[in-house]
Amino acid sequence: MQNFLDSLNKEQADDFTRHTSSLDDQEWQTLLNQFITHANEEELLGLEANIADNSVDYCRHELNQPPQDLDELEKKFSSVTIPELPVDIGTHVQHLSKDIFRQVIPVSSPTFVGHMTSALPRHLPTLGKVLMALNQNVVKLETSHVLTVLERQVLGMMHKLVYNCDDTFYKQWLHSGEHALATFCSGGTVANLTAMWACRNQLMPANGDFAGLSREGLARGLNHYGYNGLAILVSELGHYSLKKTIDVLGLGQDALISVEADKDGRICIDALLMQLQHLRQRNIKPMAIVGIAGTTETGSIDPLNTLADIAEQEQCHFHVDAAWGGSSLLSARHQYLFKGIERADTVAIDAHKQMYVPMGAGMVLFRQPTLTEAIAQHANYIVRKGSKDLGRHTLEGSRSAMSLMLYSNFHLLGRQGFAHLIDASIEKARQFANLIRQQDDFELISEPQLCLLTYRYAPALVRQLLRKGSASVQQKLHDALNALNQSIQTMQWSTGKCFVSRTCLKPVQWDRQPTVVLRVVLANPLTTQEILENMLEEQRQLAQQSLFWEALQNLMHD
Ligand SMILES: *Cc1c(COP(=O)(O)O)cnc(C)c1O
Repeated sequence: MQNFLDSLNKEQADDFTRHTSSLDDQEWQTLLNQFITHANEEELLGLEANIADNSVDYCRHELNQPPQDLDELEKKFSSVTIPELPVDIGTHVQHLSKDIFRQVIPVSSPTFVGHMTSALPRHLPTLGKVLMALNQNVVKLETSHVLTVLERQVLGMMHKLVYNCDDTFYKQWLHSGEHALATFCSGGTVANLTAMWACRNQLMPANGDFAGLSREGLARGLNHYGYNGLAILVSELGHYSLKKTIDVLGLGQDALISVEADKDGRICIDALLMQLQHLRQRNIKPMAIVGIAGTTETGSIDPLNTLADIAEQEQCHFHVDAAWGGSSLLSARHQYLFKGIERADTVAIDAHKQMYVPMGAGMVLFRQPTLTEAIAQHANYIVRKGSKDLGRHTLEGSRSAMSLMLYSNFHLLGRQGFAHLIDASIEKARQFANLIRQQDDFELISEPQLCLLTYRYAPALVRQLLRKGSASVQQKLHDALNALNQSIQTMQWSTGKCFVSRTCLKPVQWDRQPTVVLRVVLANPLTTQEILENMLEEQRQLAQQSLFWEALQNLMHD
């Protein structure tokens, strides 16, 4: 130390001495204890027992208060000074319990049906804790060993679920390090990006004096191959992660061609063909056609077989974004809805949406594992050439072994258990749709194709006026209904008792006018019809208390 200080000039040395951390013995011990001690186990065990091991009850009983005002919270979390000294675990746990864990959203409550992630099976929080404690990094074999092998097996199961190739195929590819059947990632966003990344690179391989797009970049690639640009085509209900994708890939957001959807939320084939023709006229190469198997907003499934035919004719990549819906393939009864997915070059599926796995679990599957050559990377200290490291084909680097969660769910629930859960969810959505249809004052906007549907509060009388009134009355009514549904959703959320989400659709039955709708996703097995009935009743009451009726009266007087 003295030698080191001697090497600095006086000013530097003073500065260094002043800023060297100086914990006293007790503080140092407190710090070490954070890593090794069992002395404060009680507080930690309390957290585990009350929250981690009991999250459904915790959500139900401890989190049934209206959420605190955001301004208040922001004030509480406004200091930007990193705490100076270590504190003991008991103090910190108390702070977490009181100030944070009581202000979270009870997403696994059966009355919270507005989001896409569902309740978790009981074994997963424990498994998560073990995984976190072991802290394996599946970027490479050296830091994960069995978990690398297990991840490949899980990905193989998913590949088989979608593509159903024969045994020889899986024998050849499952544990091959040179290629990957699929890769695991943080979610659908990265899965879509990975698929399109591989697709883009493969589109412009090395050729003559051109070393390939991945080496020379997009501008030279376009120049060499003589295109004015590249495009990705997807229905207007495409997930916004595709916008990020196309931006990151350097194609520009205008290259994401949004194709009209029909009354059921499925891509219009005629409109797609027209867009393809426009691109041809402008010498823009369609890089990929994306089919959505379960749109985020309406749960609709595109006609995948037809899209596969068109992609084949155009000789372009066919990607299916099944981030939310893909898990329904586990149901033999509903598999038919996905006909054609097996022809997709790549498929994105999230395990954290309907596979009852916690967040951070997405996958991209490659029909032909050789496609991963287009994105393979290596480095000398990690993911070496010839190694079986998973990191050679993933966009992300360090990664935890989330595949273990899916592995355990496959074992603990079984394919048939999953199928049962999925069938029950879809059945529940159909029943709820029927319930809505029976109400005079609610309107079903999108039928459930899977377990997701949208509806709104719109009394039959108002709907009649909306059809018959003058254009200006129609517009005002339309705006009033939008405002009403927006306020129903916000008010219901702020009571803290239940949650539906909201989006804005352009329903064909309302001349594609932007229409605010309530959206529910019914994947939580603990959600009952009774809960849904009460939820509607509460929405009705909120609607009746609102200013909508005054607005309506004024409108009628005008
Ligand atoms: C949720 C979703 C995504 C994005 O997935 P993340 O896991 O949130 O990154 C992409 N596509 C669809 C259709 C989705 O529903």
